[in-house]
Amino acid sequence: MEQLPTRDALRKRLVQIESDACSLSEEVAETDDHLFTACSFACEVWQDIMAWCRLPPLFAFSISDIILYHKTVKGNKEHIKMVKPIMLLGYWSLWKAPNELIFNRIKTKAAMIVQQVKALGFRWIKASSKRGLMTEEQWRTFEFG
Ligand SMILES: [Zn+2]
Repeated sequence: MEQLPTRDALRKRLVQIESDACSLSEEVAETDDHLFTACSFACEVWQDIMAWCRLPPLFAFSISDIILYHKTVKGNKEHIKMVKPIMLLGYWSLWKAPNELIFNRIKTKAAMIVQQVKALGFRWIKASSKRGLMTEEQWRTFEFG
């Protein structure tokens, strides 16, 4: 059984819900793999994050494909170190999006998620690494020379 309380998981646990359709796309049942990988909303988020980080497109079929994505990245070691927290922030932000809709009635857009990943990632990476001298311009363009 799914670990995350997605709509599909709640329905299976006999929790009364209006619909088990994905909160973000309403495409199919909201399972954890759908929410983070196959959902058109999630795909848009990952596509924008990959483009920003100058990484090849993400082909994820499960949550572990996202969590372990940094292990598949090749190139500059410092660049690769930043990919893991960025992917975790993307995952966390995607998880929050349906909750924002359900509890706060805020319909999140993919661009808002990407913006949140960039803003939180800048502070997180700047505070926790040798990247303390990183400028916002370097972060925004993902160009570290
Ligand atoms: Zn969806």
